[in-house]
Amino acid sequence: MTLPGSPFLAYRGKELFLEDCSLDELAGRHGTPLYVYSQAAMLAALAPYQRGFAGRDHLICYAMKANANLAVLQTFARAGCGFDIVSGGELERVLAAGADPGKVVFSGVGKTRAEMRRALDAGVLCFNVESEAELEVLSQVAVAEGRTAHISLRVNPDVDANTHPYISTGLKGNKFGIAHDGALAAYRRAAELPGLAAAGIDCHIGSQITTPGPYLDALDRVLDLVEAIEATGLTLQHLDLGGGLGIRYTDEQPPAADVLIGSLLQRIDARGHGHRKVLMEPGRSLVGNAGVLLTEVLYLKPGEAKNFCVVDAAMNDLMRPAMYQAYMRIDPLRQRDETPVTYDVVGPVCESGDWLGRDRALAVQAGDRLAVLSAGAYSMSMASNYNTRGRAAEVMVRGTEAQLVRERESVADLFKGERLLA
Ligand SMILES: *Cc1c(COP(=O)(O)O)cnc(C)c1O
Repeated sequence: MTLPGSPFLAYRGKELFLEDCSLDELAGRHGTPLYVYSQAAMLAALAPYQRGFAGRDHLICYAMKANANLAVLQTFARAGCGFDIVSGGELERVLAAGADPGKVVFSGVGKTRAEMRRALDAGVLCFNVESEAELEVLSQVAVAEGRTAHISLRVNPDVDANTHPYISTGLKGNKFGIAHDGALAAYRRAAELPGLAAAGIDCHIGSQITTPGPYLDALDRVLDLVEAIEATGLTLQHLDLGGGLGIRYTDEQPPAADVLIGSLLQRIDARGHGHRKVLMEPGRSLVGNAGVLLTEVLYLKPGEAKNFCVVDAAMNDLMRPAMYQAYMRIDPLRQRDETPVTYDVVGPVCESGDWLGRDRALAVQAGDRLAVLSAGAYSMSMASNYNTRGRAAEVMVRGTEAQLVRERESVADLFKGERLLA
């Protein structure tokens, strides 16, 4: 049996290790629920991107909404990555991690003037603009700041990423990007605006994409546009192909990043665009299988229709199952020899949607600890305080070393900004 996240996540005897750290030991030391990340797994996920782009003018911008812990950002910054951000808050994290704002691309459909101002002052590489209205506002803000905003238009290539509807972003009915048909006019408008300079073009068609087809279709559509735009005398430099590469949660077989990049670069070269700098914005594929969520079994609750395994992690800690009906593997930190029983693994939150896994065969007792696998992406970063539950602590392991990289939130933290009525 190979676990998602292997070889960094593996049983040694009956005990589950992440790199050279016993997860049960870490859970004992730091309490549960606890997120644990492997730095080696993150760097190993980055390596095929770097290999794919070797010898080419490129920038890998880690899409930090997948996992925005400062230690994670530091890891990717030190490895040479830039960042894809979607809010002013994420920009502050980039700065707090000591990373270079000059390698930041700023995406998102609803940037505020204050966010634009701050990003201009910090000197971000590029604004990925998502509407004509945003172009007008960004130009005004840039002029007022005495700066030039380098922009790329996020175009909507209208291709189906064949993924979950909530994480598909490149179809006509999605809120993201500028429609293919409107892109040329938008670039013309950008050229007229005093605060803007067109730098490139970008698209991002969705997430958890497991075949190369949608990427190649989107690339062709984007290159068609680049050619149409340049035929009018405007020039563009870079191509930003977005993120979205999937990972293996159970039996998915996404292409390796270097293979995917190889096909994309081949198409780019074949169509005569080989001179362009290429950006990508991977999120999930860099961190998803580098993290686990550890939780303790509170109660076993056998029933007529279902058996429930009630654990101390809940939908506020890990929203993906409740929100996307996502499957995430669940395995014990210490394997038992007893015969497994089928359980729904559920949390303490007062919602029937509060489950982490359904119909899982587990040999467990109250007090045992479990790992929810593939929890490095869109897990802690989507955590909430629902039911007045503090967010989990986070630990980064490197070999035998384990460092707390975020303290557990205390209950006092949760209502420190609230006021009783006078
Ligand atoms: C979320 C997002 C990404 C990253 O997507 P993944 O599926 O995590 O790789 C990249 N670019 C933009 C604009 C995004 O919103």
